[in-house]
Amino acid sequence: MHDQPNQERALAVVLDEDPDVVAILSLQLHLLGMESRCCRRTVTLLDEVAACRPQLVIMGLESEDPDGIALLRKLAEQQYPGWVLLLGGVERKISRIAERVGQTLGLQMLGSLDKPMRLAELRQRLGGLRFGREPAIVPESDPFFSAEELERALEQGELTLHYQPQFELVSGRLSGVEALVRWAHPEIGLIGPASFLPMLTPGQSRRLTGHVLQLALADAERWQRLDLALSMSVNVTADDLMAPDLLARTRHRIPGASPPVVLEITETAAMDDELLGSEIAARLHLAGLEVSVDDFGVGFSSLSRLQMLPISELKIDRSFVRHLQDDTQDAAIVEAVALLGRRLGIRVIAEGVEELDCLGLLARFGCTHVQGFGLSRPVPAEAIPGLARAQSPIRASIAASGASPGSTP
Ligand code: C2E
Ligand code: CA
Ligand code: CA
Repeated sequence: MHDQPNQERALAVVLDEDPDVVAILSLQLHLLGMESRCCRRTVTLLDEVAACRPQLVIMGLESEDPDGIALLRKLAEQQYPGWVLLLGGVERKISRIAERVGQTLGLQMLGSLDKPMRLAELRQRLGGLRFGREPAIVPESDPFFSAEELERALEQGELTLHYQPQFELVSGRLSGVEALVRWAHPEIGLIGPASFLPMLTPGQSRRLTGHVLQLALADAERWQRLDLALSMSVNVTADDLMAPDLLARTRHRIPGASPPVVLEITETAAMDDELLGSEIAARLHLAGLEVSVDDFGVGFSSLSRLQMLPISELKIDRSFVRHLQDDTQDAAIVEAVALLGRRLGIRVIAEGVEELDCLGLLARFGCTHVQGFGLSRPVPAEAIPGLARAQSPIRASIAASGASPGSTP
């Protein structure tokens, strides 16, 4: 592929104290089809952001005066609309806090990239966004969507679902799927949710959930008719859960609620005071819906508060799973969450399983389910029945590790 003219390439501004880090990142961004500008001081970065409006800021947290977290505040004050990717190099705990601070301030955070930076990881991080030369889902194009385009997507049913398979560790069988929304844009192609979910108004976001539920439940019914017992997980926000029509939409669809419909809500959203104080928890339970706490482990939630929701599943955030094999702190967290799940008698699913050699450890810790690119990427609905009948990718791997998986509630 040829290089594009400069003015059409997305721009990243990179801040790190270490000139080698900056040089490597510039090269990697170039390989991914992006322009970059480098800064060694936070004041310069703020000036660059104000002057050039880059689509992406990549920043180390170790800069001085202001420090990385203060810098995030300044970017938010400037109402920086692009993406922010943090650079590792500080304790992971600190980058996680910084990520949460950025999210709370309304910045579009892309997580943090470990040092030394690997091109594959950078590509993956940027893959769902609308820039870069070899994106996972979306080809290059203008960075932002207009309100009219989003409206058209909702009205004309351009939003479709892909399903990521979930496997039960003890049997290796395909036990369920997570519905993940994609925008089948007529000119651009498939666009990942990170590129458009943050741009939806609250009203559009509710309509999106309605549309997603409708598609997901129709597919679930179809699979049920084929005798495939697959749970269906759908991502919802706290706002969705409190909307009066959510229960009505789901109630009549799956008689007997078996296999279950699972509403995934992030740990942070699950702690919403209004949600916990509402009658919704009890009504979800009465309607036979299950709740999974997504991205569990990053929100530091209080268990007494979590118990106010009818939780059937804890979903361990993939940032803990990624380094499971070589980070003892992450392994300790995964083990503790698995133990907690076992005590509560609920499922514990590890997401983001990329390497199958961590399955043995996950099984030994007592995780009950797994999902991740290493087992299957999200696929269109048509591929699911075939996957359910295919040889499980898990059995051989668990057997080879000699682990005996925990029992499944
Ligand atoms: P999530 O709920 O944490 O969903 C999992 C995301 O991780 C998916 O990205 C999935 O493709 C990706 N993933 C799965 N396995 C792996 C792995 O092994 N490694 C890595 N690096 N990534 C993996 P996707 O589809 O881009 O979704 C991103 C987020 O968008 C979701 O995060 C969820 O918060 C949100 N989302 C997706 N669909 C919907 C929806 O229908 N409604 C709402 N409200 N949010 C949605
Ligand atoms: Ca999810
Ligand atoms: Ca998640």
